[in-house]
Amino acid sequence: MRQKLLALFQESHGRLPEVIARAPGRIEFIGNHTDYNGGTVLGASIDRGVWVALAARPDGRRNFVSDLTGRLVTLAADTPVRQEGAAAWVNYPLGVLAALPAFGLPVPEGFDFAVVSNLPPGAGLSSSAALELASALAFLAATGRRDVPPATLAQIGRQAENNFVGVPCGILDQGVSAFGRKNHLVYIDCRGPRFEAVPLPPDAHFWIFNTHTQHALVDGLYTARHRECLAAAAALGVALLADVTPARLAAELASLPSIEGRRAQHVVGEIARVDQTVAALRRGDLAEAGRLLTASHRSSQTLFENSTPALDLLVDALTGRPEVFGARLTGGGFGGAVMALTSPRFDAAAASAVAAAYAEKFGTAPEVLHLRTGDGAAVL
Ligand code: ADP
Ligand code: MG
Repeated sequence: MRQKLLALFQESHGRLPEVIARAPGRIEFIGNHTDYNGGTVLGASIDRGVWVALAARPDGRRNFVSDLTGRLVTLAADTPVRQEGAAAWVNYPLGVLAALPAFGLPVPEGFDFAVVSNLPPGAGLSSSAALELASALAFLAATGRRDVPPATLAQIGRQAENNFVGVPCGILDQGVSAFGRKNHLVYIDCRGPRFEAVPLPPDAHFWIFNTHTQHALVDGLYTARHRECLAAAAALGVALLADVTPARLAAELASLPSIEGRRAQHVVGEIARVDQTVAALRRGDLAEAGRLLTASHRSSQTLFENSTPALDLLVDALTGRPEVFGARLTGGGFGGAVMALTSPRFDAAAASAVAAAYAEKFGTAPEVLHLRTGDGAAVL
């Protein structure tokens, strides 16, 4: 990827870069719809990501190029203005520039900028957060700041995405990209937020099966789930569902309306499963971690009702195989992708068999990716 980045930079800007930074994509490992309930989540930084190269320009111009479009976008160095159409991808680095002053950090004036990636965009692996984090590191290095802590980098990226791009994401994507480590997961307590690396046995493999389907009403369904969770918390007399223990919920479940009760059971159970997963991984017990992943999926399927027949088929096909520790929908649900945690014995032939079972029922094959953990965002 480094060669590809240098070639794109040279060809677009006619010189070599001064700074290169890289940030990984991520998988939501477990912790489904827990973030806005004040809960915890585990993410994996993966061995694919986004590379950004940058060199300062004395004339104040800002020239952006990406392997996605290949077209140069030239802007003046003034207050970033949101871009539309083919140049819209520039909103991620522009959002980072717009966020830096709020953190008391300097903003570079003119520069040449290039980005290349081996993360498929829009596949639920958070190429957007990787682009934000790599951009932030490159901009900061260009102004001599290589000391910014990962928690601040994560907040800068999230603010770029929330306030400038306009996507109301939680801290998972940026937090995992910033704190990721090879052979580790990132544990995030979304209140705080607080971040911690959790060791993952090195023989853990990830497989992603992306259905590239999405429920037509997905935005409305997310909003409805959010509202139902807050209603459940209010009925239990707490601000957020993370404040309810499983024992207390069991004692008071009968007093909740049935929908709020199911949503609360999912969220409270899921937060407990995140902690149980951390404990299992600290013992090196991938079989137990896998069992918890599949339990998370069953809870999404029956209690949170954010699965689909397509995702369920993939989970059923995967969990029927002995090399698979567990499988679950990953991300918001209502379509999207399933991830499997497997032993090294799960191979391309096994993945093809699962994809074929899917294609037989749904007509098209899912996109399949084999991933390992990888290191977090860094200047190279
Ligand atoms: P995800 O984060 O799941 O990949 P998003 O829709 O949040 O999906 O972000 C995808 C967007 O990020 C793309 O539409 C594009 O604007 C930007 N992006 C991702 N990769 C690149 C890249 N290599 N070059 C330019 N922009 C990119
Ligand atoms: Mg994204």
